[in-house]
Amino acid sequence: MDNCIFCKIVNKEIPGNIAYEDDVIMAFHDLEPQAPVHVLIVPKEHISSLDDVTFDHVEVMGWLMAKVRDIAADLGLENGYRLVCNCGEDGMQTVKHLHFHLLGKRRMLWPPG
Ligand code: AMP
Ligand code: ZN
Repeated sequence: MDNCIFCKIVNKEIPGNIAYEDDVIMAFHDLEPQAPVHVLIVPKEHISSLDDVTFDHVEVMGWLMAKVRDIAADLGLENGYRLVCNCGEDGMQTVKHLHFHLLGKRRMLWPPG
C-alpha cells in the first residue's frame, strides 16, 4: 500500500534491519527498541490492524503465529518473551500496518502501562 512505511520495508524500498523473512512474513528490528531484543513481525500483505483481520487472513495469521517460536529461538529468547499487538487509538497503534512486537532479554512488567 502506498505511503505505508512497513510496506516500504517489506518491499525493500527503504532499509530495515531484517531478522527473518519468508514469502508470507517479515521480522525486522524496531528503530526504538524497548527491550534488548525488540523486533516487529509483520505480514507482507498490507493489513491495517488486528481489527481488520478476518477469516480471509486465517492462513497468513496462522503462519505468522506458528513462526514466532522460531524467530524467538533465532534471537536467543530461550528464557521467554512477550508478544504485543497494539490496535487502534486506545491500543496506541502508531503504524497502520499490522505488526506484533516481540520483546525479550529483560523481565517484562505486568500490567503494562
Ligand atoms: P505501534 O506503536 O505498535 O504502532 O509500533 C510502531 C513501532 O514501529 C514503534 O515501536 C516504532 O519504533 C517502530 N518503527 C517506526 N518506524 C520504523 C522503521 N522505519 N523501522 C523499524 N521500526 C519502526
Ligand atoms: Zn503496509
